[in-house]
Amino acid sequence: MSHPLTASLNPQQRAAVELPAEHALILAGAGSGKTRVLTTRIAWLLSTGQISPAGLLAVTFTNKAAKEMLARITAMMPLNPRGLWVGTFHGLCNRMLRLHHRDAGLPAGFAILDSQDQLAAIKRAMKTLNADDERYPPRSIAQYINGNKEAGIRAAQAQAWDEYSRTQRMIYAEYESQCRREGVVDFAELLLACYELLERNEPLRTHYRSRFKHILVDEFQDTNQLQYAWLKLLTGPDSALFAVGDDDQSIYAFRGARVGNMLDFQKDYEVKHVIRLEQNYRSHGNILNAANAVIEHNRDRLGKQLWTDDDAGEPIRLYEAATDSEEAGFLVDEISAQQRDGIALDEIAILYRSNAQSRIIEHALVAAGLPYRVYGGLRFYERQEIKHALAYLRLIANQDDDNALLRVINFPTRGIGNRTIETLTDTARISGSSLWQAACSAGSGRSAAAVGRFVLMIENMHVQAQGMALPDLINMVLSVSGLYEFYQNEKEGEERLANLNELVSAATRFVTEDENNLVAFLANASLEGGEHAAEAGEAAVQLMTIHAAKGLEFHSVFLTGLEEGLFPHDNSLSDPKGLEEERRLMYVAMTRARRRLFISLSQSRMLHGQMRYAPASRFLNEVPDTLLKYLNRGYAPNSFGSSSTSSTSDWYAPPTTPRHLETPDHGLAIGMKVRHPKFGLGVVLNHEGGSNGNIQVDFGQLGTKWLAVAYAKLEAV
Ligand code: ATP
Ligand code: MG
Repeated sequence: MSHPLTASLNPQQRAAVELPAEHALILAGAGSGKTRVLTTRIAWLLSTGQISPAGLLAVTFTNKAAKEMLARITAMMPLNPRGLWVGTFHGLCNRMLRLHHRDAGLPAGFAILDSQDQLAAIKRAMKTLNADDERYPPRSIAQYINGNKEAGIRAAQAQAWDEYSRTQRMIYAEYESQCRREGVVDFAELLLACYELLERNEPLRTHYRSRFKHILVDEFQDTNQLQYAWLKLLTGPDSALFAVGDDDQSIYAFRGARVGNMLDFQKDYEVKHVIRLEQNYRSHGNILNAANAVIEHNRDRLGKQLWTDDDAGEPIRLYEAATDSEEAGFLVDEISAQQRDGIALDEIAILYRSNAQSRIIEHALVAAGLPYRVYGGLRFYERQEIKHALAYLRLIANQDDDNALLRVINFPTRGIGNRTIETLTDTARISGSSLWQAACSAGSGRSAAAVGRFVLMIENMHVQAQGMALPDLINMVLSVSGLYEFYQNEKEGEERLANLNELVSAATRFVTEDENNLVAFLANASLEGGEHAAEAGEAAVQLMTIHAAKGLEFHSVFLTGLEEGLFPHDNSLSDPKGLEEERRLMYVAMTRARRRLFISLSQSRMLHGQMRYAPASRFLNEVPDTLLKYLNRGYAPNSFGSSSTSSTSDWYAPPTTPRHLETPDHGLAIGMKVRHPKFGLGVVLNHEGGSNGNIQVDFGQLGTKWLAVAYAKLEAV
């Protein structure tokens, strides 16, 4: 008889859940229950007494997923979730570093730099070195530093072969010592510092290796080199590593994820149990078949079959708009209709390839009065007022946090000018101290008096903060610092005040076992920054990039912007590997839908201040026509792949006479010579959709382009 926990699982899933305590790889496609198996295994191990909660380490990809997992586990059995080591790589490393901060050489209240803080810190390090920020753009330095850290390479070990790379390395080294001086760590540092701690400290390593009997990792295909090395350090001779993943959903190669870890894992750990799950429980048949058909175009695959018992369901609906606002209008109309049908807004997601696409969609949603939530876009914790408030709090926790000090020393303005700040920076640099120490010993004079008042204010708050409840503390800081007053007087400060109040509510809801709850709260804010969803009771449409949607599922999914250059993204077009990663992204996007999948595209789009005209994404040609339903009058498709041979591509019901052979209403027939204001002379190769459609023109050396007839201003010559 099967265990009640596994009764509802299929035989493969059950086998995976009930595997002996040995290394295992669960390799399976989207929606096959990987996450469910992993969670059930945790509950099963605990409830059958095979491990105690302390013997378990589970890694998920996002904080949201970690929370869901904790919720699922505690729903299955009564447990205190805080005792469990379940979290993201960053979250778990943070926890370990806090516990052993002395051994790690970090101050107790070390702050975490988010990507913006990191950029500011790099700029300061570059200033110290007088490095040219045009030759060495801080953003590319940040990539250089993070890339190295993710490969486990410190500045001292970084390779350099010419002046340019030597300078990069020098900046990295300066940035490293600056962070150490200030007692702050960036995201990549959390992992690297934790890795080094375990590597260096034998007793500690032995302790954790014998403690964690079961290590379970979700979304294993997206682990990077350092994360894999960290897992290896933590796996003792008696530990079992249980990894679940899907090579077809590896979408973070650009951030160093190594799908090869799945193969290495099998070899390095001599994995005996590889289980494949092939039944999909998430999506209706049409959606699953369409996703399968798309991913089959990738060569570099481990190979999996996925089937479903479910009905075929509705066809995938396709809408082609002339403009991006028309596309947004379609989304709003369709979502309103679904809402009237009784589908909860939370169960509807709008996905896009690039964050920049969201603005126009948000605009339409606002106009229609449809509540929505953006994941990862304008993040709560990245909003100006929140960052200011957090900077004050960080300064109270650790006065040597230079980033925090610089952010608020003159905000709200208190008469401390740039000159004074530069003097402080110089003093600090010369004496090798923090800015705070320099500020404490600022001399006399008018500006020095202002600095003195600032120091006193922070010190006072620091003293008062001791023993104060977190929400009270934050309220005090918001008043004493002058932030409340500042935003009260600001013209459009209402929303900012609401956000500040939301920060107080976040503190009210925040519970921790950590003695220093301020430090724990700040760490949590940095870690959650990327994922915070505005906390509002009401249901809202979910907006997010495809990357952010990984692992999630919705009743209805609207996949937008299916245009060449946007999705697949421009950057990937010249590189087959890049294109395969884009296709995996397409696969992830489609498989988020349980019941309804809508795909939309627009012939023209305003992006980054430029109007773009792009033909339909090649991925649309990869979806079998029989699974699609065209919603609007339809501009004829842009044929892809088979390029000029036929424009009656497989994603349109072919008209009796192929459209491109009819004389179009704009009169620009195939073979005609035309002039374009920018590209000059060309020859018409193909067209579709008449005056509202697109036209393909060969501009000789400038190449062949698809243009929207209505906008292209072509003249026959
Ligand atoms: P992804 O690759 O997208 O992360 P996954 O493989 O992790 O997907 P889950 O999220 O675990 O898949 O499961 C997908 C859906 O199928 C969930 O709603 C889950 O509850 C459901 N499901 C999984 N297994 C079963 C089962 N045996 N019976 C019924 N429903 C199931
Ligand atoms: Mg999953």
